[in-house]
This record gives sequence, structure tokens and C-alpha cells, in this order.
Amino acid sequence: MDIILLGPPGAGKGTQAKKLVALTGIPQISTGDMLRAAVTAQTELGKKAKAFMDAGKLVPDEVVIGLVEERLKEKDCEKGFMLDGFPRTVPQAESLEQMMNHLERKLDHVLLLDVEDEELVNRITGRRTCGKCGAIYHLVFTPPPAADTCTCGKKGLDQRADDNEKTVRERLSAYHKQTSPLIDFYGKRGLVRKVVGTNSTPEDVFASAKRALGL
Ligand SMILES: [Zn+2]
Repeated sequence: MDIILLGPPGAGKGTQAKKLVALTGIPQISTGDMLRAAVTAQTELGKKAKAFMDAGKLVPDEVVIGLVEERLKEKDCEKGFMLDGFPRTVPQAESLEQMMNHLERKLDHVLLLDVEDEELVNRITGRRTCGKCGAIYHLVFTPPPAADTCTCGKKGLDQRADDNEKTVRERLSAYHKQTSPLIDFYGKRGLVRKVVGTNSTPEDVFASAKRALGL
């Protein structure tokens, strides 16, 4: 089963991917991890990618698509894969389609995790971490035992600098702008399986995702 995962930041894509990997045994391929692995392994494409990264430039699509192709040929992808973080644009989706045709593979599902922006803003801006023991809290969903105090006793929890409302809204608006043409692209091919995650627990979302994928 060949799947693409789509969803805004904070929607819980990582959590769902882990559950799907555990259920199906199909590997999750995150392009960030894949890039880092290729650079470390010093493959031909990895070296090319590194040259762009060292120069502070975006790795061009043809290099990324080459890396995805190499990855899909690996044995653990025989029964399927879950692609996360790629494609991000319609030209990338077109290249992926061509490459998969060449490999005689066909995309089965585009799993779209859909959560309303207001909830995403609340989820992300409520995150706090303890600088001493690494504990993670959410002011609404998993609050610390006493206000601004960790179970380990440390007073003063930290918020990641980019977890503030303004930055989150900017990230969401960029996500929508980038993703809506992709949803159209895959919608025309009848591949989009939308799972609504607003007001839902990760377990509920997983149940819906399984249904959507026919698992
Ligand atoms: Zn702590």
C-alpha cells in the first residue's frame, strides 16, 4: 500500500504515522530523515544534496525525487511506503507520479489529516517543556501538577520560540497555500482520504484513518 501523508503542523501526523507503521509494517519515509541518511552514507545523490545544503540552498526537486526513488527500491518498501513531507508542490507530485509509473507502482491513498486552524493554534501555543528533565506538558490537555512547575520540582516551564500564536498562524497559512493545489491534484485522481481530527483523541483519529485506508 503506497500512501502519502498530508496534514498541517500540530495535527498529529507523526503520532498517526507511528501507529500505522506498527499496524502495517510499512515504513514511514520522511524526506528530512532520508536526506540526512543519504548525506551521512555519502551516496552520489547524498553528496549532491550536501553541496546545496552547505551553500544554504534548497535541495532541488530532481535530487529529492532521485533520493525518494532510491529509497522506494529498498526491500522494506516492497509492500508499500508512507511518504511524509513530500511532495509539497504540484510539480513535485507530477515528478513523483512519473517516477512511480517508471517503477510500475501506483499510489493508493493520500491520507489527509484535517484539523481546524483554531484548534491547531490552541494545541501548539499550549505546549510547555521542562528545561531540567525534558517533561512535556500542555496547559489545557496535560497541565503540570502546579502552575508553571514540573513534577521534578523545576519552576518555570519553557515554550519553544516558534510556538507563539503569530508564528503558528503564519505556518498554517503557508501550509494551506502550499497544500490546497496538492489536494486538488490528488482529488482529481480520486486518492484523497480525509480524516477529521478536530475535537478528537489520537485513538479516534487512528480508528478513522484505518477505516479510510480500508485496514
Ligand atoms: Zn522537570
